[in-house]
Amino acid sequence: MAATAEVPYYYASLDFEALWREFPPPPSYFDTTYRKSADEIRALQNHRLKQQVARCGEIPFYQRHWRQAGIKPGDVQTVDDLRKLPSFAVSDLRDSIDRAPPFGDYMGVDPKNGPPTPWVMQTSGGTTGLPRPILYTPRDREVTGILGARRLFMAGIRAGDLVQTTHSLGLSNAGLSTREAVWKYSGAVPVMTGSGASTPTRQQIEIAKAWKIRALIGFPAYLRHMALVARDEMKIDPREMSVRIIGTHLGTDDRRELEELWNAKVYDSYGANEAGMMAADCSERNGMHIFEDTHFIEIVDPETGAAVPEGQRGTVYVTCLFKHAAPMIRFNINDVSAFASGTCACGGTHRRIQGIFGRSDNMVKLRGVNVFPEAIGTLLGGDKRTTGEYLCVVEPSGPSSREEMTVMIETSDGSVEKGAVQAHYERRFKDALGVKMTVQVVDRGALDQLTGLTRTSKIKRLIDKRKK
Ligand SMILES: [Zn+2]
Repeated sequence: MAATAEVPYYYASLDFEALWREFPPPPSYFDTTYRKSADEIRALQNHRLKQQVARCGEIPFYQRHWRQAGIKPGDVQTVDDLRKLPSFAVSDLRDSIDRAPPFGDYMGVDPKNGPPTPWVMQTSGGTTGLPRPILYTPRDREVTGILGARRLFMAGIRAGDLVQTTHSLGLSNAGLSTREAVWKYSGAVPVMTGSGASTPTRQQIEIAKAWKIRALIGFPAYLRHMALVARDEMKIDPREMSVRIIGTHLGTDDRRELEELWNAKVYDSYGANEAGMMAADCSERNGMHIFEDTHFIEIVDPETGAAVPEGQRGTVYVTCLFKHAAPMIRFNINDVSAFASGTCACGGTHRRIQGIFGRSDNMVKLRGVNVFPEAIGTLLGGDKRTTGEYLCVVEPSGPSSREEMTVMIETSDGSVEKGAVQAHYERRFKDALGVKMTVQVVDRGALDQLTGLTRTSKIKRLIDKRKK
């Protein structure tokens, strides 16, 4: 090994103080950027967008897509111009990896041949095939740590608190990025138990109890499982434990149920390995504030790509305003959300999204109305007459082959009067979703085989018989 070989030390790789002025961590973020006027935020976004677009002009993935669309980087001056640019999806990232293995041509960096840099690599959660990698420069990584810490601060986590994280600690970014956010930028203490595969659930509970954990971070299904193991198997009442804050990505899960199990407040958040933490609940928990100095979010009709009005559901496109490696411009992240309206009592000025209602490739256009099957689940939540399990079936029907959706829902036990449940939900779905559907009420467990509930974690909510 040559004595002159250069080792790029992390601490020397970055002007940290300049970075913190640009992207304030808590608590200063909440006195500054968080309260900027809409015009100030827009100006900052336009400034950062131009830098990102110029950066993308150097990256083969974007050169190819934008050339095909007849766009030059100079055509984009403001966030309003973004709509001129093509969006891309996960399938395009996979295609990029096939073209330029092993890491694709979307990152614009090369650890082997580029300038010496202390890289770190994390991946998407990926369920099939190889996970999708993202390389982080020190600057990219620090910004994601700052964003994670803003989310923790908004949930009330403060210096000295113990924060137990139940995300897996491996390639998938959720666990390690939480550790960095807690450790570097919140003053709290990360307690990295990892998932149930790293630390058995019973031990997780013993740790939380003995060490007086104040905040739990994890996915709703696992945190619910933890509470039930504590309560039903270990005879430890989770409500009596010291956990008062739960940080999670709720999706369509039931916030109230999780809060009651733990006697804790649940704070929703929205992040992805490709983009970092994009939005999080504030103290009001009335929609997640987007971190608008680092992300520009569009919500569009999945079919037409046109922006939907405030309050209406559509698919999320994200544009990152801070990245060097793997910048993201109009990434169709395939999640469904809607902008929340009105101002927020917390004093934060950044726009809010209502939550994540499901995957947009599940959307059904039913007689001109966009219907997301996961929205049905939300409407069933908390009704003791049903198990909460449901399945939507779409098929052509009648002489005109008009498209009809049947929603199958399960009763919780044999004593429930099915006719009343059917009438209630036919009315409810029509009122809430704006289109008529047929409800078919079935016995508990009858949908197991169709949804895959007892066999797989990938639960099926839609059977579309229109597709041959
Ligand atoms: Zn707020």
